[in-house]
Amino acid sequence: MNLSDVLLLGDPRLYEVCEPVQRHELPDLQPAIADMAAIVLEFRAKYGAGRAIAAPQIGLMKRLVVMNVERPVVFFNPELFDLSEEMMELWDDCMSFPNLLVKLRRHRRCKMRFMDADWQPQLWSLEDDLSELMQHEIDHLDGILATQRAVDERALKLVVRSIKQIEFRSTSIVSTK
Ligand SMILES: [Zn+2]
Repeated sequence: MNLSDVLLLGDPRLYEVCEPVQRHELPDLQPAIADMAAIVLEFRAKYGAGRAIAAPQIGLMKRLVVMNVERPVVFFNPELFDLSEEMMELWDDCMSFPNLLVKLRRHRRCKMRFMDADWQPQLWSLEDDLSELMQHEIDHLDGILATQRAVDERALKLVVRSIKQIEFRSTSIVSTK
């Protein structure tokens, strides 16, 4: 399984609510977890962005998220609570619609409990980037896409994204120093 297997906007499976993962399923889920971690890297190599993927994006209807920034981190059955009243507005993106940005609002801070790769309970306090990322991913587990959270009818923007564009941008940053 690779990047071409990621379900795209409009696929009915992206709008379904996922089932909790049971501990005994862990061995069977390992190949999917490895695929998800690799797909994040593949996406980032192609588009220059991308930090995490939710299981339903590869058609696996389980409450599982894999983040792969410096190394793969697995979240089983993640739940958010203590969502801050303070919100932040941002242009969100998604591997299921790589050329579309959606302006939406996310809670600036929240807490998240989940079971880790060794099935140990964890509790994280999230803010800013990580907070909006996990709100996005957990929305996937509930069948909610960023497009459904658009702030208004002008909140969608098509972009051309490729690694070439990112390289060009970094070059220009270097040249201004
Ligand atoms: Zn997404």
